[in-house]
Amino acid sequence: MALRQRALKMGFTLNEYSLAKVEDAKPVARKTEEEIYAKLKLDFIPPELRENLGEIEAAAGHTLPVLIQLSDIRGDVHMHTVETDGRNTIAEMAEAARERGYEYMAITDHSKNLAFANGLTDKRAMAHIERIRAVEKEMKSIRIFAGIEVDILGDGSLDLSDSVLEQMDIVIASVHSQFNQDRATMTERLLKAIANPNTSLIGHPTGRLLLRRDAYQFDLDAVLKAAAKHKVAMELNSYPDRLDLSDVHLRLAKQHGVKIVINTDSHHTSHMEKMRYGILQARRAWLKKEDVLNALPVAEFTQAMKHVW
Ligand SMILES: [Zn+2]
Ligand SMILES: [Zn+2]
Repeated sequence: MALRQRALKMGFTLNEYSLAKVEDAKPVARKTEEEIYAKLKLDFIPPELRENLGEIEAAAGHTLPVLIQLSDIRGDVHMHTVETDGRNTIAEMAEAARERGYEYMAITDHSKNLAFANGLTDKRAMAHIERIRAVEKEMKSIRIFAGIEVDILGDGSLDLSDSVLEQMDIVIASVHSQFNQDRATMTERLLKAIANPNTSLIGHPTGRLLLRRDAYQFDLDAVLKAAAKHKVAMELNSYPDRLDLSDVHLRLAKQHGVKIVINTDSHHTSHMEKMRYGILQARRAWLKKEDVLNALPVAEFTQAMKHVW
């Protein structure tokens, strides 16, 4: 039997087989993966990194990153309530977040441009902030940020008044309409949203819906450059049909010095558990907890949403 087949039959993955490199090498038979890596004088490579993208060299040079894990996440800061298109109240969402052991969370309902979601006007947004503050006072044991997922309109302006956005702890700016703009127009649109001093992060930045809608066309490099300059974070939306940014784009964001916020975009308390998909994707992108703002303690995270990192 050819060595390759024999190695595979013995339970080696292709990647581990390729570590042996030469056709006539003897398979490295050990009981556990850890022992195999140790035998090969390599640091253990987490399965998410086994894509032949430099991980073998990093393992040999002891420079593999300590990848982020679910327990590093201290808060989930993108969620909706019955005030727009969510299924639960502020208090129910906050209670679910507290049960998950989070130190903080944010309510970020939609703005009025998303009419089918009953998006908030300036006036309703202000009243919503009051309700969020009241629930926080009652619950005490979790910080509830008052936020908004505000639409980035076709011309790059945001869908609510600056005076309202200024009252928010977190402003997620997202594209929910006019996905077919040409590349230059869409790029300008995103750059204008990033330059708005109220914007904390860009929600689901490419707009892709897996198996349903391609990403809209824009210059990601230009957008990441601007995000780094203005200290606006990029979201990793953990919702399974989004997973946006992708692992490749997350690596690019990191190269540009842009920080990431991993959110679930929960529309129901049961959606919060989808954080684990975002974590898996972040790990594939080699992200460490230092790259992810919602792994920060509450005081630092609060500052980060106001461009201080
Ligand atoms: Zn959205
Ligand atoms: Zn959302």
